[in-house]
Amino acid sequence: MNIHEYQARQLLRDHGIPVKPDFMATSVDEVEQKLSRLIGPPWIIKAQAHTGGRGKAGGVKLAKSREEALAHSKNILGMTLVTPQTGPKGKLVRRIMVAEDTRIAKEYYLGFLADRATASYIFIGSTEGGVEIEKVAAETPDKIIKVAVDPVSGYRAYHGMEMARRLGFKGALAKQLGQVMSGMYQLFISKDASLVEINPLVRTPEDTLFALDAKVTFDDNGLARHPEIASLRDIDEEDPNEVLASKHDLSYIKLDGTIGCLVNGAGLAMATMDIVKHYGGSPANFLDVGGSASTEKVTEAFKIILSDPNVRGILVNIFGGIMKCDVIAEGIVAASKTLGVKVPIVARLDGTNVEQGKKILAGSGLKIIPASSLGEAAQLIVKETSGR
Ligand code: GDP
Ligand code: MN
Repeated sequence: MNIHEYQARQLLRDHGIPVKPDFMATSVDEVEQKLSRLIGPPWIIKAQAHTGGRGKAGGVKLAKSREEALAHSKNILGMTLVTPQTGPKGKLVRRIMVAEDTRIAKEYYLGFLADRATASYIFIGSTEGGVEIEKVAAETPDKIIKVAVDPVSGYRAYHGMEMARRLGFKGALAKQLGQVMSGMYQLFISKDASLVEINPLVRTPEDTLFALDAKVTFDDNGLARHPEIASLRDIDEEDPNEVLASKHDLSYIKLDGTIGCLVNGAGLAMATMDIVKHYGGSPANFLDVGGSASTEKVTEAFKIILSDPNVRGILVNIFGGIMKCDVIAEGIVAASKTLGVKVPIVARLDGTNVEQGKKILAGSGLKIIPASSLGEAAQLIVKETSGR
């Protein structure tokens, strides 16, 4: 789960990391009311939407007066932010953050996450922080500093000292960096985060550190343990189909292709996407209906797949283990009839009650193309959808 920058900044504060005061607002009136809480001008006005790259897209503005603050707020609220992370459709800005300004001598990058390659946690730092960090990582990888943290012994002061040395921080600055890193580590561990990122972390002309922009993401599987984190969820920022799917207990992730996939089991769903790609198609989604899908669940899954206008055909790939093929077949037929499915469907069923399942499909009078293997199914759906 993702959260907004203003929420992430509060979590950093809670963990002893220096962040200037700010407030969130959803209207210009609200900005007008709350502005006197902050020291300033100048203030910084920032679009709050789940994407990076807001600075370059015009979503971050400095205001040198009350009038400017209100004018920037008016412009940013309601704007559509188009960044490399949002795609061409962009993201509507419904909330803004107004913060006290931080004077910047230099911008740094600091992130903390799990590194699967080394099976450890890792701090990533760079002296080249700010809006070009992706470019730095791609073009000058030697400017990316990595300090591994053993998950068993956890964060230790020497990790901070090592990062400080490599970033060129001495004395009080190095000590402050240690506090920032220790806070990031505590936040990550105590809230089951999957990423804690500060970009930029800035050094002021007075040689103190402040976190300006923060991104924190959480492991969805840990949310049940942290209701205070789960309550930060902003449904407006999420794909409506993904929200709908999670209500029906379906794992759905939208992708950019044209072949809708309905599969039981996450591993089988991954394999299905791979084989579709292998035969030259591209999946429109990842969808795992789970181990015990009912007719209703299959119908919901079809609805979600079909609401994506890019879908030109559907590949159903079910292995009946716990789930029975005849139940799924009934679900497919019922869903196709209720929804009036117009795109071709290729169904590969195998496992428990496969014969009954196939009979139900064949006797339905619908154009559902049967396939006996995964490879055949993928080839058929690619053929059916190409040129449509
Ligand atoms: P992003 O573009 O979505 O990553 O948004 P950031 O919050 O990182 O803002 C982009 C850039 O705006 C930063 O790299 C800074 O240069 C600048 N910026 C952000 N916050 C402040 C601030 O409080 N004061 C000043 N002077 N500049 C800021
Ligand atoms: Mn940033």
